[in-house]
Amino acid sequence: MRILTSISICLLSLTTFAQKQVSPIKTSAKPKLVVGIVVDQMRWDYVNKFKPFFKSQNGFLHFINQGTTCDNTMIPYVPTVTACGHTCVYTGSVPALHGIAGNNWYDNVKQKQVYCVEDASVQAVGTSNNVAGQMSPINVWTSTIGDELKLATNFKSKVIGVSLKDRGAIIPAGHAADAAYWYDTKSGNFISSTYYAATLPSWLTNYNNAHHVDSLYSKGWDLSLAKSIYESNCDADENAYESTPFGKDAKHFPYDFKSFVGKDYSKITSTPYGNNLVIDIAKQALLNEHLGEDNITDLLAVSFSSPDYIGHSFGPNSWETLDGYVKLDEILADFFSFLDKQVGKDNYTVFLTADHAVANIPAYAKKHNLPGDNYDDGAVKNDITACLNANNLNPKLISFVGEYNIYYNHPLMDSLHISNETLTTIITNYLEKKPQVLQVVESRKASIAALPQIAREKIVNGYNAQRGGDLMLLTKSGVVDGYPTGTSHGVLYNYDAHIPFLIVGNGIKQGVVNTPTYMTDIAPTITTLLGIQMPSGSIGKPVLELLK
Ligand SMILES: [Zn+2]
Repeated sequence: MRILTSISICLLSLTTFAQKQVSPIKTSAKPKLVVGIVVDQMRWDYVNKFKPFFKSQNGFLHFINQGTTCDNTMIPYVPTVTACGHTCVYTGSVPALHGIAGNNWYDNVKQKQVYCVEDASVQAVGTSNNVAGQMSPINVWTSTIGDELKLATNFKSKVIGVSLKDRGAIIPAGHAADAAYWYDTKSGNFISSTYYAATLPSWLTNYNNAHHVDSLYSKGWDLSLAKSIYESNCDADENAYESTPFGKDAKHFPYDFKSFVGKDYSKITSTPYGNNLVIDIAKQALLNEHLGEDNITDLLAVSFSSPDYIGHSFGPNSWETLDGYVKLDEILADFFSFLDKQVGKDNYTVFLTADHAVANIPAYAKKHNLPGDNYDDGAVKNDITACLNANNLNPKLISFVGEYNIYYNHPLMDSLHISNETLTTIITNYLEKKPQVLQVVESRKASIAALPQIAREKIVNGYNAQRGGDLMLLTKSGVVDGYPTGTSHGVLYNYDAHIPFLIVGNGIKQGVVNTPTYMTDIAPTITTLLGIQMPSGSIGKPVLELLK
């Protein structure tokens, strides 16, 4: 009987196996369009937390209802900042290999400070503010999803990036992109650089000439939901520890922006309207550049920067953050119906993730007896200067402190005959006495630091020989590289490193993946979906559970 049962189970599984093999495999056509969405500073838990307040089932919830959410997606490197995040999402790689060591770094070869997308060899297009447009992806060393898509289709695929931030548009679009458009806070225009083209397309010039920012300003910012919802689900509307990006007296809802009309185009970035501008450009680009029209897959990379500006000022528990996401949800729902109409319901795939998440405002944490403190790079630099002075050493021995990377001035060290060991010992002993500091790690030796494996790995992945600091300052949990008001991100703790990864559309199953996944897995998942080569420096694995 037992044998018989085993045999029948065997036969049954054989039958199932055979059925799987012989049944005609529904080879769905590849997506005509992939849309990558990065929500700058979005925490993983926001979707769950804000779910009851979304007005639509078709915005963020469309990913949950129809697609897959990978609920344990982590950033496997430090620093957890915008440039590194956008690069990792689209290269599947880490600063050690892709070269984007921070938003800013000190180039150890050229001996100068560098901004991630600066490129003095190109000129601004669409603004007289040349410095805002002298940007390109030349500092990225490895290929992107878009680059591989171009290579796979003999450059017939179209690839376009859009964001308020230059780095949020340029890096995701990649080296071989057709275009990248970003926002110039001086002119209020979406601009580009001669890296891509000598002039803006006429549809974009027309958009700029319509001065949409001014009409958005004149609407002001009021709540989308009943006040009681914010009162019972958020911190107070007004707090001394929030920043005041709209002026020192503009501390609570409703916000009036009329004084900025025609005068100040920077303030829009800290409002939900920044997302409206970005989605407008994304839609216009899709229509006018004919993305998703033929069977050659195109890539539209959209990055929403306003959630980051809002989050830095008001924190993750604020009315502004909740309201910003409720409004972004409406934008997403509208965008999905736009894609259904223009590209066709089953013809596109959309993924949504974040470049990093964010810490609680330290004073908010303290109010609730949670660990929280500030220690910004300026204060670190001042402390090291004091330490060097106290040891009769030249403070110029430190060339740069940024994103908790401490860079030595090696030419000066050589001329003063000061060894690495001497400088490291003095600085480490000093900084490790500070209450905010966990440990000072020698970046090159991070793999043997006395830290849990996962922390060592994040430092090693984030260290770049040409662009990394000599020391990496690790702060204690809750310590923010920022100022007394507002909050920030950049460290290895989970509040900064746990990000959403949602995906829906052509080739994607409905479900939840709870096994650990990483930011580096996103690019190889997309290239596997498309059947193309993975980006050159990709170290991730495709998340096979979500692919049909
Ligand atoms: Zn930020």
